[in-house]
Amino acid sequence: MDHERDEGNLMSNKHPNRVSAQQPPMDEQAQADQHDQQPKLTMAEATTFLDVSPDALLIVDTAGSIVLANRQAAQLFGYAQTDLIGQPLEQLLPERLRTAHVAHRDGYVRAPRVRPMGVGLDLLGQRQNGSEFPVDISLRPVQIERALHVVAAIRDMTTQRLLEQERALQATLIDLAHDAILVCDPINRIRSWNKGAEDLYGWSEQAALGRISHNLLQTRFPSSRGDVSTSLEQIGRWEGEVVQTCQDGHVVTVESRQLLLRDEQGAPTAILEMNRDASLRQRLEQAHAPAHVEVLQKRTFLHQLLDALPGGVCVVHGLDARLVLANREASRVWGAVWQLEQSLQDFLEEHHIRVHEVSGRALPPERWATLRALCSGEAVLQQQEVIRQPSGASLPTLVNAVPLASAYWQSLGDSVPLSRALPRQPAEPLVLVIYQDVRLLKEAEYFKEEFIGITAHELRQPLAALKGAVGTLLLQTARGHGTPLADWQQELLQDLDQATDRLTDLTDDLLDVSHLQAGRLALQRAPTDLVSLARRVVERTQKTTTQHQVTFASQATCAEVLIDPRRIEQVLSNLLTNAIKYSPQGGPIRLTLTLDAPVHSAVEIQVQDHGIGIPTHQQARIFGRFMRADNAQGIGIRGAGLGLYLSRTLVEQHGGQIWFESREGVGSTFFVALPLEDV
Ligand code: ADP
Repeated sequence: MDHERDEGNLMSNKHPNRVSAQQPPMDEQAQADQHDQQPKLTMAEATTFLDVSPDALLIVDTAGSIVLANRQAAQLFGYAQTDLIGQPLEQLLPERLRTAHVAHRDGYVRAPRVRPMGVGLDLLGQRQNGSEFPVDISLRPVQIERALHVVAAIRDMTTQRLLEQERALQATLIDLAHDAILVCDPINRIRSWNKGAEDLYGWSEQAALGRISHNLLQTRFPSSRGDVSTSLEQIGRWEGEVVQTCQDGHVVTVESRQLLLRDEQGAPTAILEMNRDASLRQRLEQAHAPAHVEVLQKRTFLHQLLDALPGGVCVVHGLDARLVLANREASRVWGAVWQLEQSLQDFLEEHHIRVHEVSGRALPPERWATLRALCSGEAVLQQQEVIRQPSGASLPTLVNAVPLASAYWQSLGDSVPLSRALPRQPAEPLVLVIYQDVRLLKEAEYFKEEFIGITAHELRQPLAALKGAVGTLLLQTARGHGTPLADWQQELLQDLDQATDRLTDLTDDLLDVSHLQAGRLALQRAPTDLVSLARRVVERTQKTTTQHQVTFASQATCAEVLIDPRRIEQVLSNLLTNAIKYSPQGGPIRLTLTLDAPVHSAVEIQVQDHGIGIPTHQQARIFGRFMRADNAQGIGIRGAGLGLYLSRTLVEQHGGQIWFESREGVGSTFFVALPLEDV
């Protein structure tokens, strides 16, 4: 059993040379004296003594052999009791220490004396399974059957050593702390004084130990010292600010926490005191006070600004759109209050809120403007979303979702309201979402559509009457009935006839548009041969012009599709009329029909002209309502800008597509693709 500070005992080996076989033998008289003082036992007494002892005990003879071992000793070293008898004592030591131990043992035998437990040696034992463990040992010489023996009481110190290590760690930690940590006895004498206390107050540990803490530090308590003592007595702790004086005379304000420790009987054993310099915090607070006020002002301002906005404003972050902030109007838009850090989808599900397209179809989450902007990192502007609120009410909105640079946002720091909810990870996308309530706009649009519908409807009858009257007048006078017309009268009536046609076309278009908007334009599908339909429209169109050669070409002789023939005729007629109208110089116009076109459909129709073309910058909007290109208007070609809008809507209602290629001054080709599945 090893030790650090060798005292030459039975089981130590650190300085084996100090006690060696060559050491001169003890004075004989001294040996005789000691012999007289040693307890004398018979072997039977020694056995009984071992059996009744609670400690692990071994009795060893002067040759180092184990003579007796009790059950506790056998258990401690992992042997059967009988196996230990007759074994050399060194068997219970780690091998590397055995040789040296023999010398220690010999030395002890020459001058045997009592060595009590806990003399502070670091001794080691070894179990039968080879594992080592720290032990403490007391030794006592004893006469058994008139021969010198040694009784060794052995204690396993494993737990004790661990506790000691832990305590050493705690002491290191206490020294590492910036706070001043003091342990005082119940009458406030300083028992422990850490490095933090040295740094704060200036006294070394040595100078502080034993002094009454509040005398040394001239502590001034907020009320009285009595209050502190009462609090410690009654609730075991006290917290507050105290003013203390350091060794160099300067005064510090400290935040003090004190704890009264008691023993098992409840008697006070120590006061634990932890003091933190508050002057630094106070100085910082004073320095930051103006900035803090400014931050508060900014925060209030931003709050007011957001709440004053007419639209719902939200800022969300993360791919699941968790809420960072929202203004008051946002809650009105949703009809519910969105909690900070709640994801958009969770919020909508919790309150049974739905998002729809204008058509009434449910809008899937991946198409919500907010999630689109978060995922793509690009702004989604003017997306129409209808919000079905928890009450069941529907709110049409226009949504703008604009990604924000999170660095910019974070630079606002505390000035942003609810800054605690700001994204922690700068890499997370951040999006500003603005919801505009377009209920009023929708109502205005509805009234406008209604007005157009009624007006167009009311115009139809008088127009038809006018057309009929002009036609009859021209026909009857041509047949010689009534007074013949002068040339100028004839021309006037022809102009009137054409104007009536244009006005009739316009009112028809307007009526169609208003029916479309109201969702009342239903297709009347019927199996139709598209080849003959297209040929018919071409032939009819050719009759309206002498300047243009309108030709028809088709691979197939027949292409039967399930369409509304009147509406598809309207589309082709519109494209051909446009081709003529926007080719004022005349020229060829060609309608081509192809089967099995590659674009989502099997029938493709092209209408090609060599007219004025459409300026590039207006091409993206040319299918819009009332949209007309500048060049067409510039040269005085009349139109209302409804034909293409109607054509696109009708083609799309058939499940088809319409698009064009055009170069200004060169010409245009319009394409219509219709699916064959419906045939
Ligand atoms: P409208 O012809 O009554 O003005 P449309 O909706 O049919 O209305 O056409 C919209 C606009 O598209 C026209 O005003 C014209 O500027 C342009 N456009 C249409 N077709 C052609 C074409 N074939 N060539 C050049 N411009 C065209």
